[in-house]
Formats: sequence, structure tokens, C-alpha cells
Amino acid sequence: MGTSVDAAIKEENGNVAEKKPIVVFVLGGPGSGKGTQCANIVQHFGYTHLSAGDLLRAEIKSGSENGTMIQEMIKEGKIVPSEVTIKLLQKAMQESGNDKFLIDGFPRNEENRAAFESITKIEPEFVLFFDCSEEEMERRLLNRNQGRVDDNIETIRKRFKVFLESSIPVVEYYDSKGKVRKIDAAKSVEEVFEAVKAIFTQKYEKAAAV
Ligand code: ADP
Ligand code: AMP
Repeated sequence: MGTSVDAAIKEENGNVAEKKPIVVFVLGGPGSGKGTQCANIVQHFGYTHLSAGDLLRAEIKSGSENGTMIQEMIKEGKIVPSEVTIKLLQKAMQESGNDKFLIDGFPRNEENRAAFESITKIEPEFVLFFDCSEEEMERRLLNRNQGRVDDNIETIRKRFKVFLESSIPVVEYYDSKGKVRKIDAAKSVEEVFEAVKAIFTQKYEKAAAV
């Protein structure tokens, strides 16, 4: 990575306090590798990773009044109401002390998207979209072994259906605005990260050239 790119990252980190947060939405089907790649992006580019699914699972564990409802919805692969997810995202953003966020697994439908934009007034800088076949995603989820209640074949099929019907339209919306950066996510973790890195590096090269 060239020094001009390093300088652009530093300048962004120094300036964020006066600016609106920088948000990158990370979308893709269940098991497409969003969480795996977000961990790499955090290490290289200093973003804070907020996974909507992880926040919802933490909410269940905390014994909150919404916990049972969230647990049921996750078991069925359904989309939890926007107000619950957006509140958790806002709280996590405030508590992070950072102003650069990877929001993973959100927005999951048009209503999520519109509510987030109208409540936070934040538009994503771009949308990373991990493109992967259902066959490959199914294989990965069945091997994930994290003890998740929704990584079983019955729930996985429901999640694929929700993804196609509700989440793809969000990707299409941002694509129509020229904001989607599509990545072939069927490759190895290393190859996918090379493609991801190129997208972030390009962003900083552009900033350095201004
Ligand atoms: P998501 O966050 O999109 O649901 P994860 O990052 O949790 O997906 O990945 C799902 C599973 O697939 C995990 O067990 C992970 O280790 C594995 N995985 C992630 N990326 C790849 C890849 N490029 N090739 C093979 N397996 C992968
Ligand atoms: P994930 O960890 O992204 O695979 O999400 C697991 C499950 O959490 C989903 O199948 C949904 O039931 C729920 N979920 C995750 N993200 C959202 C979201 N943005 N809005 C509503 N529900 C969500």
C-alpha cells in the first residue's frame, strides 16, 4: 500500500469527529462470508464491525424483554422489526468511539433501508455485496459449527428465500445508485480478501488524489 493511501486513511481517522459517520453496508446471502471478511477489513482499515445478527444474538443473551421474540424470529429465519435492529445499531455506533462502520447483514429489506436512512440521516458510502451460490453457502453454513439455532437445513432454506425475496431488492436499489461493489465470494478466503482490499484501497487512492 502506497504512502498516499496510508495518509488518506490517517486523514480520514483524524477528521471523523467533525463529520457524519462513514458507513459501508456489507450484504450477501447467509454464509457468503460477510463476518469472515469484515474481521479482515477491521484489521487493515480500522473500521468497527457491527453485525446485525450478532447484536440480535447478544440481545437474546442479555435477557432483554425482546429476547424471546428475537429468538423465535431467528429460528424461523425471519427479519426482526426495524426499530429493534436500528436501536441496537445506533447504540453500538455511539459506544464504539469510532466513526467508520461496517454494518454487516443490514439492511435486510426495503423497510430496514428506508427506516435507517430516515432515522440516522446516514447514506452508505458504498455497499459490499458478496455474491455466492446457494449450494456453496449451504455447505459453509452446515459446516460452521458455532451452535447456531438457525444453521440447520430447514432454517437455512427459509433464510435463502428471505434473502432472495427481501434482501436482493435492497442490493438492486443501491446498484441503481451506482453504490454496489460486487465481489465473487465463492473463492477462497484469501482470494476474496484480495478483491475486498482492492475496493478499499481504491477508495483511499481516490481520496489521496483529491
Ligand atoms: P456470513 O457472515 O456471511 O453468514 P461467515 O463469515 O460466518 O458468513 O462464513 C460462513 C462459514 O463459511 C464460516 O464457517 C466461515 O469460516 C466459512 N467461510 C467464510 N468465507 C469462506 C470462503 N471464502 N471459503 C470457504 N469457507 C468460508
Ligand atoms: P446473520 O447472523 O446475519 O446470519 O443473521 C441471523 C438472523 O438474525 C437472520 O436470519 C434474522 O432472523 C436475524 N437478523 C439478522 N440481521 C437482521 C436484520 N438486519 N434485520 C432483521 N433481522 C435480522
